[in-house]
Amino acid sequence: MSVAEQKLTRLTAAGRFDLCCPGECIRMLSNASHITYNPRAGGCGRMLKVLLHGACSYDCAYCAVRLQKERLSFSPGELADTFLGLWQEGIVGGLFLSSGIPRDVDLVMHELVETGEILRRRGYDGYLHLKVLPGAARADIHDAARVADRISINLEATSPDRLGGIAGVKDYRQDILKRQAWVAEEKPGHHTTQFVLGAADETDAEVLSCVADQYRRIRPSRIYFSAFRALPGTPLAAHPDTPGWRARRWYQADYLLRDYGVTPGDLRAVLDEEGFFADRDPKEVLAARRCPVNVNTAPRRDLLLVPGIGPKGADRILALRRVRPLSGPADLVRAGIRGKAAGRHVTFGGRETVQTRLVL
Ligand code: SF4
Repeated sequence: MSVAEQKLTRLTAAGRFDLCCPGECIRMLSNASHITYNPRAGGCGRMLKVLLHGACSYDCAYCAVRLQKERLSFSPGELADTFLGLWQEGIVGGLFLSSGIPRDVDLVMHELVETGEILRRRGYDGYLHLKVLPGAARADIHDAARVADRISINLEATSPDRLGGIAGVKDYRQDILKRQAWVAEEKPGHHTTQFVLGAADETDAEVLSCVADQYRRIRPSRIYFSAFRALPGTPLAAHPDTPGWRARRWYQADYLLRDYGVTPGDLRAVLDEEGFFADRDPKEVLAARRCPVNVNTAPRRDLLLVPGIGPKGADRILALRRVRPLSGPADLVRAGIRGKAAGRHVTFGGRETVQTRLVL
């Protein structure tokens, strides 16, 4: 294995905790373990996720890179060469570039931007996602936004107190929120963020408040949720892992907020007394509390709250019923509603049909 390949293997292993695709998308190609591959992720498929520097002088308690002394690094030119080689062979289709912070933040942020600039100068016109480091300068965020398709800065936690418990060196307001506001101004509609669920013992009610505030003020195109995993050798090694289903429920809740017209208040009502989601699809929980929806009269917003009906399905139902009323399950199937889940939550003009349950 060449030195560049060794670096690639080590620095992609360290970079795998930064998400660029939702849910359980991270599947490694068997013969190229440094590539995050997700066939359903469109531009995100065959993404090389890698760190520029494998060492970091920060001490975030959940992170494997923390206080890492090994000076394993790519220079911007080296990483550009390595990536372009893989891209030209068709092995990778995009680059997600982040970094540990072994020295001054500004120097490392310059290097991330420089890597992107080299790639663009050398004709790379594919997908490029650059991570904005906590405390980065406004000018570097401006340059990152210019050169990259997408930029992101991770919130990690829901508040200054919560972050203080797991990453005391970062100032939540100054290093993260202030920089995130700049990110949003420099790359509107093309920036993301990420939470590490459970590392700081926050409740889902706290996450919900923070997520709602993000979509209202900052407008990230996506929010990613990673379930905390205790890593050996870190201060949180004995902390319980966050179950994977919590992240799955958060992706479902996030879709409801972004695409289904569900409000934070609606979701708050499905949290338990301690402020947590149960391991159940929040849309199912919301639907179970509502009267069955009449598919012939319900507004689009109410159709969207029926399990099994998404935005396209709701639009097809509206189109069908403009021609004639839907008379039964066969019409739902005609509208592309295939999930059995819809059956017990709909009527066709006042009749809640047991038959619906059986046929769908
Ligand atoms: S800043 Fe914190 S989370 Fe980022 S690489 Fe360094 S120790 Fe890890």
